[in-house]
Amino acid sequence: MKYQPVIGLEVHVQLKTDTKIFCGCSTQFGAEPNSQTCPVCLGLPGALPVLNKKVVEFAIKAGLSTNCSITPRSIFARKNYFYPDLPKGYQISQFEDPICQRGWLDIPVEGQENKRIGITRIHMEEDAGKLVHGELSGPGDGSGVDLNRACTPLLEVVSEPDLRSSDEAVIYLKQLHQIVTWLGICDGNMEEGSFRCDANVSVMPVGSDTLGTRAEIKNVNSFKFVKQAIEYEIQRQIDLIEDGGTIVQETRLFDPNSGTTRSMRSKEEAHDYRYFPDPDLVPLVISNEWVERSRQKLPELPGQRQQRFIDDLGLPRYDAEVLTASRALADYFEAGVAAGGNAKAVGNWIMGEITRALNDRGTSIETCPVTPVQLAQLLKLIDTGTISGKIAKTVFDEMWQSGKAPQTIVEEQGLLQVSDISAIESIINDIMAANAGQVEEYRGGKEKVFGFFVGQVMKASKGKANPTVVNELLLNKLKG
Ligand SMILES: [Zn+2]
Repeated sequence: MKYQPVIGLEVHVQLKTDTKIFCGCSTQFGAEPNSQTCPVCLGLPGALPVLNKKVVEFAIKAGLSTNCSITPRSIFARKNYFYPDLPKGYQISQFEDPICQRGWLDIPVEGQENKRIGITRIHMEEDAGKLVHGELSGPGDGSGVDLNRACTPLLEVVSEPDLRSSDEAVIYLKQLHQIVTWLGICDGNMEEGSFRCDANVSVMPVGSDTLGTRAEIKNVNSFKFVKQAIEYEIQRQIDLIEDGGTIVQETRLFDPNSGTTRSMRSKEEAHDYRYFPDPDLVPLVISNEWVERSRQKLPELPGQRQQRFIDDLGLPRYDAEVLTASRALADYFEAGVAAGGNAKAVGNWIMGEITRALNDRGTSIETCPVTPVQLAQLLKLIDTGTISGKIAKTVFDEMWQSGKAPQTIVEEQGLLQVSDISAIESIINDIMAANAGQVEEYRGGKEKVFGFFVGQVMKASKGKANPTVVNELLLNKLKG
């Protein structure tokens, strides 16, 4: 039998606010355990939560960027469960009436232009603390609780079960990741857990319209692991069904070392949490004006910018996608074009030399020592024939090192391209005289030798001879 996987993702997006969602403590990562806490996030009796307005603003931005409706009156609920990293015995979340509802993202899928993935809801919630084991936990061998992370603001973005393969899941996840980092509401750091995802996976016979029982895989924190975890889980469920077994609804953990998932606990239902409206927090009322103000302030989103690069600047789709990988990269590109660079050439240099140089040095476009204006100046020197494309790479390296303008480097180092016919002719004469054998071969029909002569002339001119002139003159002279 053939099976159809059905996948939905719940993504936790940690918001990049300076302070926590219900108190004024810092959200900085990596501080001394329990140094960023107060009565509210420690869950001390009587301490009252106060909602951080920034969190609401970020949630609205996320909602509008994913085509959601913003709920005019949303409420916070208590999600009750026990765990040592949750001193209150409940997590403040949203259950009924979350802040954003009924959105979607269009993802590119093989064989079709776009596929629409529904977003059921986005809600705000607080993170729990975390358990630390071993050394950091204090004296003895026990475990400790670090509540620095408690009360850190999260958005949970819940998709419809519209994804049909691990590849689609990863494309969707990458798009969501791009949007929240682009908006500047999340740092996107998956290793530190700022962007992590739970995957609901089930399989059903192809052609069936009854969803299979699903398993939820918890806290997968890299794109690669998401793909691995989903693929393993799909195969595990198919094998189990084929062997006559039954899928049980459960929560499973992914083990990156073995690439497998294992059962953690039977899956709880919503009613197990005994959600009820938090009596310490009033309903959140968001006016139409507030939503419209936020909409006005939204930046041009990656998808829109890609389309503009294609329509207005004539870039191929591939280039437009690469150049909008981050907002900083897209800004750099546009600044280069604004400074007079040809769009395709600026794009090529960013995707080629600049990316290579950034990767070699393990740095990012934000700290690129060559400014977009300098890059445009360099391209102009190539366009006007002042330097060759090959020399331009030498000049670029020097710009990177010294920060000097390309024109200055060309003048200081005498790198001007030689287009003077008599100067190039004299080099060609010398080379032909020194390689009479090859001249004979060429004239005897071995045209491949031509490349050898071009190489020799360029070498003799230290790369400065104008390649077009060299080609023309060589052709003439070799014909004899
Ligand atoms: Zn606090």
